[in-house]
Amino acid sequence: MNDILPAADRLRFEEEARLYQEGARTEEEFRNARVPMGIYEQREHGVYMMRIRIPGGRMTAFQLMAVANAADLYGNGALHFTTRQDVQLHGLTVKSIVPALRALLKVGLHTRGGGGNTVRNITACTMCDLTGYAILNVYPFVRSLTQKLLLEPESYRLPRKLKIAFSACARDCPEGGFSDIGFMARWRDHRFGETLGFQVLVGGGLGARSAAAVELEPFVSPDEVYLVAAAIRSVYQQRGNSGDKNNSRLRFLVQSLGLDSFKRMYLAEKESLRDFLAWPIVPLEGRPQPVGDPSDIPAIRDPEMNTWASECVHEQTIAGFFAVTSPVSMGDITSASAGALAEWLWNSDLNEVRLTQQQNLLIPNVPGKRIPILYDFQKTAGIVRPAPPALSGMCVCAGAGTCQLGICRSKDVAAEIYKMKDNAYWRHPALRFLSIRFSGCMNQCARSTTAVLGFVGAARSLDGRSYPAYQVFWGGQSRGAHSSLAAPVGTVPARWITPLLDGFLDRLAAVLPRDADVARIIRTGRPILHACLAEFQQAPGYDTAPLFYRDWGADDQPFTTEDRGKGECSAGETSIAC
Ligand code: SF4
Repeated sequence: MNDILPAADRLRFEEEARLYQEGARTEEEFRNARVPMGIYEQREHGVYMMRIRIPGGRMTAFQLMAVANAADLYGNGALHFTTRQDVQLHGLTVKSIVPALRALLKVGLHTRGGGGNTVRNITACTMCDLTGYAILNVYPFVRSLTQKLLLEPESYRLPRKLKIAFSACARDCPEGGFSDIGFMARWRDHRFGETLGFQVLVGGGLGARSAAAVELEPFVSPDEVYLVAAAIRSVYQQRGNSGDKNNSRLRFLVQSLGLDSFKRMYLAEKESLRDFLAWPIVPLEGRPQPVGDPSDIPAIRDPEMNTWASECVHEQTIAGFFAVTSPVSMGDITSASAGALAEWLWNSDLNEVRLTQQQNLLIPNVPGKRIPILYDFQKTAGIVRPAPPALSGMCVCAGAGTCQLGICRSKDVAAEIYKMKDNAYWRHPALRFLSIRFSGCMNQCARSTTAVLGFVGAARSLDGRSYPAYQVFWGGQSRGAHSSLAAPVGTVPARWITPLLDGFLDRLAAVLPRDADVARIIRTGRPILHACLAEFQQAPGYDTAPLFYRDWGADDQPFTTEDRGKGECSAGETSIAC
């Protein structure tokens, strides 16, 4: 299911790690070796995060078990699922990096290209081979493109990172509309009937000067997917601004050249590469037949299980099989819970689990009769934490608790919001469509400005004292070429977030029709959010409320940005050899 790291590259990295431990490599030399391998230093010196790439978010139960074991043996005993379908381990030391990598390789997992100026994990819809609304099963393309691109040196010598997403329908769950390259499955009519293929989007991305992607080609055939990706990569490599980290992302190249110019270069490059690139023909796959006997879900009498089933169990096209979402609060799960789930899946002949863009798990192909058994197991193992859909879908980045670049402790404020889960407004049926995302800084790893309600960590000051705050954004939606970024609404002190959200949701739920869709939520909520924010924009003075000058989860530490580290994300652009 996953590509493998070539032995020569692994040995080269292991040698770098050994030399660093012996003092024969500087901090910078080691950073240049480890960042393209997806290994970043955390806030604490000498403590590392390892990002494991999971193409399309698909992993076997056995792989999940191995990751849980690695977290236990070499990390801090926890797994973190990201919004781009990677798994992160935290708390590694320089001594534990290599054994952890070796343990992952044994089950076909690796971290290469998990960081630095590389082709990052390729993301995809997790339901693309399970439901009728998906136009195309995009997994074969994710698999083939990952294997091709990761073995090519060009993928490690880019001006900056390159993110690719495959969306199987216009819902655009993987956010092709905000990716460097978005492949959007679509039909094309012609006089002989219809053909399947992809619309190609380019130049989306979040962070400094966020942008939605624009259409590069209205339709390409499946045979051209690799050619398209290679041609864009090549233009980016030749013309991208690698000398200026702040202007080096693909979207800045598209903006500075203009779409027409970029497109001309891309088409010329595509034609010049056409005869030289060997792309294995990717057979179009339908929906694979699940293993096991299909069956209906038995009658459920437990009201709590019923609520869970209505929110987390999804019908598949093949009758008698279901996809089940396991909400993972803030993408964090202990190695014990992950290991127990993997073992249960393995013993139940359910050999697959998928990581969703909402940082949850999705278990496909569960026969109906196993649904109550799965619920009981997850409840006993403490994996199911019942929460309203808007909360279980809430995305949160690592934040300043561990991330060097973090300004605010996004996980801690999100934990406070979870405590509000029993409030009545969450039961409003339309609020299931309210996406909420928290990022600890403007890098937006939780993809805040693609959500309906997004928060981005910032620092503000009053009377010479700094306090943690969040910029508030409203109205983002990912819909392929029709995506729109959330607009800034204002700034709120971190300590005012809970009353702001409480008041806003209360007022929104009171006027929102029960059948409102996302567009209606955005229209209705905008003036209410503006009004609520006006009440909570200003922090009180230090003398009356000193806690406002300390972040959530850090009551004993005055807030500061002085301990913020230097970004490692673009390290290693010239030093990795392939
Ligand atoms: S958004 Fe900022 S704080 Fe959060 S993980 Fe990314 S870089 Fe770190």
